[in-house]
This record gives sequence, C-alpha cells and structure tokens, in this order.
Amino acid sequence: MRTVKHFPKDEICPMCGTNEDKECVAIPIDGTSRGNICDGIPVHAECARKGDLRFNREVNVFYKVGIPTGGQ
Ligand SMILES: [Zn+2]
Repeated sequence: MRTVKHFPKDEICPMCGTNEDKECVAIPIDGTSRGNICDGIPVHAECARKGDLRFNREVNVFYKVGIPTGGQ
C-alpha cells in the first residue's frame, strides 16, 4: 500500500475517528476503479495495518479482504 506522510486535515480516519497528523494510506472504494486508479478513503497506516481493508460505499462499511463474513 502506498502511504502518505500527512493525514488530510479535512478528513477523519474512520477506524479511530480522529484526524491526527500521522502517516496514512488510501483505502480503495469498491466500484471506483478506473484503470489502475480508484477513489480511496484516508486511514492511518497503523489503523489500516490491522487488516487488508476495503470500503463498500453501498453499505458504507469497511471490510477485510479474504475473510468470510458469514450469513448473507
Ligand atoms: Zn486512525
């Protein structure tokens, strides 16, 4: 994952709910790929390291890739 040194001031990390100025990564949003570019949501690198996260805009949730969610 590509990281950015500073967290955007006008965004909030959805994992920890703060916008502390720390290293961050952009989590790809489902269905936004255009070639090798897609929209992303900034999340602190240390928050994102907890899993291989994706964001699903339809249901507004983050989820981890490769882990069965069960049900549905
Ligand atoms: Zn965070």
